[in-house]
Amino acid sequence: VKEAGRKNYMVYDQTMNEAFTERVAIEKHLQNAFDNNEFQVYYQPQLDIRTNKISGFEALLRWNSPVLGSVSPLKFIKVAEDTHFIIPLGKLVLQNACDFLKRLKENGYSDLTVSVNISILQLLQADFIDFVNETLSIYQIEPELLELEITESILIESFEIVTPRLQILRDNKVKIALDDFGKGYSSLSYLKQLPITTLKVDKTFIDYIVGQNEDDFVGHIISIGKNMGMCVIAEGVEHQNQLDYLIRHDCDKIQGFLFSRPIPENKIYELLDSQVPP
Ligand code: C2E
Ligand code: CA
Ligand code: CA
Ligand code: CA
Repeated sequence: VKEAGRKNYMVYDQTMNEAFTERVAIEKHLQNAFDNNEFQVYYQPQLDIRTNKISGFEALLRWNSPVLGSVSPLKFIKVAEDTHFIIPLGKLVLQNACDFLKRLKENGYSDLTVSVNISILQLLQADFIDFVNETLSIYQIEPELLELEITESILIESFEIVTPRLQILRDNKVKIALDDFGKGYSSLSYLKQLPITTLKVDKTFIDYIVGQNEDDFVGHIISIGKNMGMCVIAEGVEHQNQLDYLIRHDCDKIQGFLFSRPIPENKIYELLDSQVPP
């Protein structure tokens, strides 16, 4: 028993060490990666369930490092937040998204939306609202085509500061999505107080929809969002039976590998052009 305990401890210790080494490596290469344009923004289509057509996209960062290989955003976003590198990186994503919106318009797709993930640190910057407004105006984008995705944990940590800022953005017609809904500290009272336009039901809930023993649980979540006047989107939809369920429960939109993975901008246009014309 003693022997096994020691072995476990050693494995744990080694895993921690590897994670630490990885963090250090990521941190070391972030700035260079930025200067060398190693970051790319991919876009994952969101499908309107009723029309069965693309209604918008979520912007997702990709980092292919010549030294570290492809690094998951789950890893480098965390490091970027801890080092405040998320500020310039977040700006890059927002600019890229508005540039994409502009090209969508030039290609005749003038009503598609783009959603951008926003870190709490960005929202806490004094000039965040100005930056959003300036970027929209530089690229001549209608604010209602931009959606900012924020997570519940953000809101609960800094509710007092964040709420009025979100309200200002919302007054300017920018959309606000609550990301990963249900994953964290969901509280319906928060939902009511915040100017949220879109509820993104977390993948863990969508995973519950498995076919035979499905219940109305996710359906109830959809109803809550819809009763509050929000657009409800299901994330991480991978299977047809999940989509069938979501159709039956009147969900508005889906995003997931079933329809498309996140893809680079140059692949988006063929996908859009392959859809039946309006
Ligand atoms: P998220 O905002 O919840 O983004 C959705 C994640 O689910 C993405 O992972 C996406 O590729 C993945 N996904 C979409 N559909 C499916 C599906 O059907 N099955 C499965 N298994 N996964 C699916 P990704 O791109 O690895 O991003 C991970 C997280 O990193 C994001 O989670 C977000 O929190 C963060 N992130 C990514 N880009 C940015 C960014 O530009 N800024 C900030 N602040 N965070 C970002
Ligand atoms: Ca998101
Ligand atoms: Ca999410
Ligand atoms: Ca998620």
